[in-house]
Formats: sequence, C-alpha cells, structure tokens
Amino acid sequence: MTSFAEAQRWWGAAETILLRGGHLIDPAAGIDEPQDIFLRRGHIEAIAGRIGRDADLRVELEGLCIAPGFGDIHVHLREPGGEDAETIESGSAAAARGGFTRIACMPNTEPPIDTRGLVEFVLRRAQSAGAAEVFPVAASTKRRAGDELTEMQELREAGVLAVSDDGSPVRDARVMRRVLEYALTWDLLVISHAEEPSLSAGGVMHEGYWSTVLGLEGIPAAAESVAIARDLRLAELTGGRLHIAHVSTHEGVELIRGAKERGVAVTAETAPHYLALTDESLRTFDSVYRVNPPLRSAADREALIAGLRDGTLDCIASDHAPHTDVAKDQELEAAPPGMIGMETTLGVVCEILHHREGFSLRDLVRLCATRPAEIIGWDPGRVRMGGAAHLTVFAPDQEWEVDPSAFASRARNCPFRTWRLRGRSRLTVCGGRLTHQEDVEFCPSERLLTQTA
Ligand SMILES: [Zn+2]
Repeated sequence: MTSFAEAQRWWGAAETILLRGGHLIDPAAGIDEPQDIFLRRGHIEAIAGRIGRDADLRVELEGLCIAPGFGDIHVHLREPGGEDAETIESGSAAAARGGFTRIACMPNTEPPIDTRGLVEFVLRRAQSAGAAEVFPVAASTKRRAGDELTEMQELREAGVLAVSDDGSPVRDARVMRRVLEYALTWDLLVISHAEEPSLSAGGVMHEGYWSTVLGLEGIPAAAESVAIARDLRLAELTGGRLHIAHVSTHEGVELIRGAKERGVAVTAETAPHYLALTDESLRTFDSVYRVNPPLRSAADREALIAGLRDGTLDCIASDHAPHTDVAKDQELEAAPPGMIGMETTLGVVCEILHHREGFSLRDLVRLCATRPAEIIGWDPGRVRMGGAAHLTVFAPDQEWEVDPSAFASRARNCPFRTWRLRGRSRLTVCGGRLTHQEDVEFCPSERLLTQTA
C-alpha cells in the first residue's frame, strides 16, 4: 500500500488528479450517487457519473463515500499556553486524520485569544502547520473576564467569524446582551457556553440517580437549561446570531425547539460523547469521563438524538479538549474536565447515529459538513466546481478499534479506548492539498512516476 508520504508527493506533483468510483454525498447540492471528480492543481474541474479522461494521478475510491470536507466548529488547541496537551500543529493533524478540513478553535488559551495580535498568531501558526484550516474563535469579553467587550471590529477584520467566552459562560446577562448587539454589528456569530455557574459550582458529574449512588457532587440539568433560556431570550431581544455549544440535556433541546418555532435566530450543536455515553460511565470513577457539561442520563441522550433527527440540533462538534496524562491521572474532583474527540467523531457518529439509530449517510454529512459550514460562515459547505477541493472520503462500514496511542493528537484522554466503531476516515483533501490517506489505491501515470522518481 502507498505510504502517506509517497501519496502526498504524487499528489503535490500531479497537475491533474482523477478521484474515481466514489459515492458522492453532498446534501447542499442534492447529490447522493456515484460520481468521479477531476481536479486540476487542487481545484475541482469536473464532477460526473463517469470521467474517461486520463490524469497524472488516479485515485481509486470504489466502495468509499466522498463528502464535502467535514468541519468541526468547536475544538480546543491549547496553543498558546498549553502546548504540553496540544499544539496547533498536532491538533490540526488530528483534524486531518479524523476527516476534518476546517476547525474553529476556542479562545480559552493562556493568554486568551482576545486581540487582533493573538488571532494573527493562531492564523500564522496554522498556516505553517497546515494540516487543516484553523479559524480562531475570539473571546467576546477581554481576558474572558465577562465585563468589557473585545474589539470586535478589529477581530472581524483579522478574519474572526465567531466570538465566545467558551470554557466559561458570560455571567452577567447585561454584558451578554451587549455582546449579542455588538457582534451583530460586525456580523459575528456568538457561541454560548451555556452554564449557570451558581448551579454547577462544585459538581463533577450529572446530578441524578448515579451521582446519588456514587456519592459525587452533581451538576443539575438546570445549570444548562437556565443559561440556555436566558441566552435565547437575549437573542430574541437583540436579534443577534446565537449558537448554543455542546447541548447535553433534554431541557436544552426543548427550549431550543421552542425558540426555533418562534423564529429566533439560534443554532445549536451537540458532541459525540453525549450520544454514545451516559452518566453511568462515572461508576468507574475514571476521570476520562469527566467533561463539562457532564455526561447526562439515558433520557437526555435519547432527547439529543431526537433533536438531531428533527433539526432542533443543527450539527455535531467534537469539543475536542486535550489534557496531559499528568493532569487527567488524578481523582475525579481534581482532574480537569474534557475529552479529545477529533479522531473518533466520524467513527462514533457513524456507529451510533447511522448504524444503530438509522440516520442516513446524507444526514451524517449534513451534521458534520454542511451545517457547520453554514453556521459559522465557511464557504463552500459543498463540493463546488472551480473551488479548491475540500473533501472527506470515508468508509461508513469499516470496523476499527480505537487506539489512542496511534492518534496524531498529543493528548490521550479519549473515553472510547478499545471501542470497536464502524466508520473510518480514509482520505482528506484540504484546500486542494492531501492531508490524510490510509489504505487508498493511488495509480500514478508513467510520466508522474518518472517526474517524482
Ligand atoms: Zn464550552
């Protein structure tokens, strides 16, 4: 089999590339059928049922699905300040392996990303690391302290598409109102980490049956729903564009459903771990299961799946939150909350939503590629002629065992260790460049072989 390095060399040297025999799923373009794709210098020149033209490089995708590049609008890359756990380079490599071509990273770094200079730092780093396009989400308040708004005009000019104090909520409702108003002026999305801190303080897991049995301090569902209710009302008041991050509760889904029915401009995401795990996992007292918001009850999990099914929840985001082993190998109460996710999202979502819950592959692509791009404003969220190719090729039925030691991420805090998942990413193309391939047949022309020999 072709190594990634060799594939990348051929890919980079080829003037024309034919992606042959894959099944293209592009919900925004209404395509769900076998299609060949012809690339010239990384740009899409033709899409057709069968393309007979010769290319410098032919890539055989028979039996695989091709989708618009997957996007993850909620990840933590830990740089600057937390490079032991992750860097922009290792995090973007993890993204490429997981099938993502674009990711939005949260500003709760050290220092927080709250100025044009820090935004430019992240963009520069991402450009030289280069395995995925990285879009910094800037803080909505200075130092994420919750009182003074950031310079949103400057941030917007530097390329920021969304603001958030993620990692913590904006405590003061009046400040949140102003964030929504000000962000609207600069056409920025406001991402809400919906948590009422006075209700969540001290908790390590979901408050319910299992927290009682285990004798652990709980975080009630209301810590999330009270905050979501506030922010929905503020979005209604201001007309601002609100996106609710990592929805974990039944109550949250109900509130968002109601707001959408009233016509509020709100979108929402949930994360794979809330679909695959419940608070029962904490029985092990293993800190790998500590996350914020916490893993919830089985009934909450059902409600999230129903919310994804009827469109109340718009998309999936990993909330990839790397921590070092040293930080995580502590008692539950001392370990920081968070799990890594970019290299398991596709597998978990394919396994749980497609294979077990009956979601179509088209639904999956909508949740992982189309909607994330639409929500944050990435263009295009679809496979478009003329554009630099952003493509994710995956095998929805391929079974594999999760082995975090093989991950590109620096962190190992993965709750799916040893799980067998169906659905694996096989090839990723980001802005026309090959950023990941595994077990795909590459057929270079004689000319390309001589040229790269
Ligand atoms: Zn958050």
